[in-house]
Parts: sequence; C-alpha cells; structure tokens
Amino acid sequence: MRKINAELDNKMLSVDDALKSVLSGVKKLNYEEISIAQAANRIIAKDLTSRLTQPPTDVSAMDGYAVRIEDLKIIPATLNQIGESAAGRSFKGKIQSGQTARIFTGAPIPDGADTVVIQENTEKLDNKIIVKQHTSSGNYIRKAGQDFKIGQTLIKAGTRLNSRNIALAAAMNIPWLQVIRKPQVAILSTGDELVLPGEEIKPNQIISSNSLGLAVLVESNGGVAINLGIAKDNLKSLKDIVTQITSIDMLVTIGGASVGDYDLVKSALADEGLDITFNRVAMRPGKPLIFGKIHGKPMLGLPGNPVSAGVTASLFLVPAINKMLGLKTPISITENAILGCDIDKNDNRQDYLRAKMSINSSEELIVTPFDRQDSSKLANYANAHCLILREPFSNALSKGEIVRIIRLD
Ligand code: AMP
Ligand code: MG
Repeated sequence: MRKINAELDNKMLSVDDALKSVLSGVKKLNYEEISIAQAANRIIAKDLTSRLTQPPTDVSAMDGYAVRIEDLKIIPATLNQIGESAAGRSFKGKIQSGQTARIFTGAPIPDGADTVVIQENTEKLDNKIIVKQHTSSGNYIRKAGQDFKIGQTLIKAGTRLNSRNIALAAAMNIPWLQVIRKPQVAILSTGDELVLPGEEIKPNQIISSNSLGLAVLVESNGGVAINLGIAKDNLKSLKDIVTQITSIDMLVTIGGASVGDYDLVKSALADEGLDITFNRVAMRPGKPLIFGKIHGKPMLGLPGNPVSAGVTASLFLVPAINKMLGLKTPISITENAILGCDIDKNDNRQDYLRAKMSINSSEELIVTPFDRQDSSKLANYANAHCLILREPFSNALSKGEIVRIIRLD
C-alpha cells in the first residue's frame, strides 16, 4: 500500500481553491453531430449561424386586407377585392389603385400593397371591401428579416439547447447540430455494509442510496452515468474495479474518503497511480473530499454520508461536468434571500445549510434552515429547496438578515 503524503493529508483547502483545482483539472470535451430532434438539453459546440432570413419576405401580421395607403385618404373607402394571399399560397397579381386582396397572417404582401387593414375594421359587400377606419402606412406588415437574417449568429457556443432555442435553430434551417459529447462519469460506491434497493438486507447492512441519486444528478446535468457497482472495503476489490475502467471522462467514488481504518479509496487508487491534488476541504458537509487524476482522468472521491455526497457533488461534480460540456458559467449561481430564523456563527469551515424556501406576504424570498443539519439526514436533504452558504467564521445572524443561497433542483 502506498503511503499518502502526510503534508497533503493535513492541508484543508478552501471551497474556492478546491473548486479552482477541480475546474483546472477537467477539460472541455470534443463534439459530435446529432439530429436536431435529439438535441434537447445538449450543449452547442460552435456558434450557430442562420441559413435563411426570417420572415423570408414581407408578410402580414394579421388577418385582413392588403391595401395601398393612398387609397385610404377618405374614410370610409371602398375597394375592389381582386384576390387572396394565404400563408403558403401568395397572390401573384399586383394591387392597383382602388384594389385590395384578402390576406391572412403570415401570407406574403402582394405587389403594390403597402399596408394591411385588419378584418375587424372592414365590411364586405360582395366583392367590395369597405374600410371604415384610418390606419397608418405600413401597419401590420412584418418586414423581411425582422426576426433574423441569413448569416446572423443567433445561438452561441456553450448554450444549452432548451425548447426555445431548439425552435430557433429549426427556424434557422439547421437540421444537424454539433454538440459537445456527453461526459461519461463512472460512479463507484464503496462499503462492506452496502446493498442495492430490493436486495436482502442482512444485519449491519444499509442501502446504497447515493449512487442512484448521483447518477440522476450526472444525467440531468448532461452527462452519462456509468454504474460501477459497489466495491468492498478492501484494496483488492477497489483495485479490481478501477483497473477495469476504460473510456470514461471522470471517475467518482463514494465513501471511504476519510481517515477511518476502512477508508481505503486513497491508498487503493494511489497503488493504481492516483495523483492526489487535495483530500480535505474546509466545508460542512463534506470535509473528506478527494480530487486527483487516475490513468490521466479526473477523479473525485466524495464522502459517504448521503448529504455530504449530494452537496459535494452539486458543488464540485456538477461544475466539473459543466466545464467538460464547455458551459460559460460552470459554477453554481448564488442569490440573496432573507433568513426566516436566527442562525449561529460558524467555525473555520464553509457551511451549506439545508433549508426550505417560502415567499412572504411582500413576495420576498424567505429561507429557513432545518433544525438538525446532520450529514446523514437524507430525508431533510431530499425535502430542502436550497443551501444557505455560510463563509468560514461568519457571525451569528438574526431572522430578517440577508444570506446567500444556492437553489437545489
Ligand atoms: P464512509 O465515508 O465510507 O465512512 O461512509 C460514511 C457514511 O456514509 C457511512 O455511514 C456509510 O455507511 C454511508 N455510506 C457510504 N456510502 C454510501 C452509499 N453509497 N449510500 C448510502 N450511504 C453510504
Ligand atoms: Mg465506507
């Protein structure tokens, strides 16, 4: 077993420094080409430029009549209807003085017409259209290119494709998209006590819950979770699994990261060539947190307690995935909220208090931490809406004071 550097073992990094190390230890991945129909939530690899102009020609914004404004000097004005322009079927003729054409929303404006009169302001008598209200020149015409023009860059590299920008990419006539490859994140649980949900539970055993939760976190953030199962708390079991890993982008282990006799992740992986960057972070929950490189791939060793694993994954694993995906802002966004109760000062560790959010009668965001913040309390964590961020050595705060929060999904 390789000895771990004692100096490193005693060093406790700040959350910010640890996050910087993680982000500089992961690289943006390459891209692949996929159909727009498969592109939901994928990340655009290169700026997208429109292949056409929208609308392609001047079109009507309303159902009504295409007219020449000079014919409407005296109201009511009577015009002869000489045709019809519908979306997909334009009127081929030209509107001369005294003439009009029926027109519908999205239909091209016929030659000669310069304005659309809405149907509600007209009356029809056989083929005669009586315009009953004044209007201004150019009304209800959507000019060619008023939405966007050919060659215009409309979706930037690093954008996650949601329903709105997928619709935009489709309107830009882009059927195939270059998106960043999904990061392959292998997840390994460790512990002699762990069994899977539904398996027989013998005395001293508990369910491995973290691996399933983390797989969802990985996938909902755009990665692919590869389940490596559960390693026993012995060097051979850990090494056997790790040596089998091929073609992944990141390894995540759960548990065995601390200083107990059976916390063997560091030493087992050190034998396999793990190069550790840090293994303790000044935070609560989540002090025993490992980051390093193994077989050239980034490795994150999360603590085993369910809340610690979840919080550290949100704070370090998600940003790492975001960086691999090339997102412009990989780290969690914080915002202000008002405390719903008093809270104590804290020590040298940065706290992430699990809390509920509510809206008060003045529509302000109120956050109230759970009474008990034990890192094994999965039920509270599952029901929390956000984490209240408390920097090291923060003073006690009273109800009504402002705190920074990170929303949980
Ligand atoms: P460890 O870091 O391995 O000492 O684990 C700390 C605590 O987390 C112990 O109570 C473990 O039983 C628990 N634990 C470790 N891994 C998991 C897991 N995958 N799911 C649920 N609990 C876990
Ligand atoms: Mg363990």
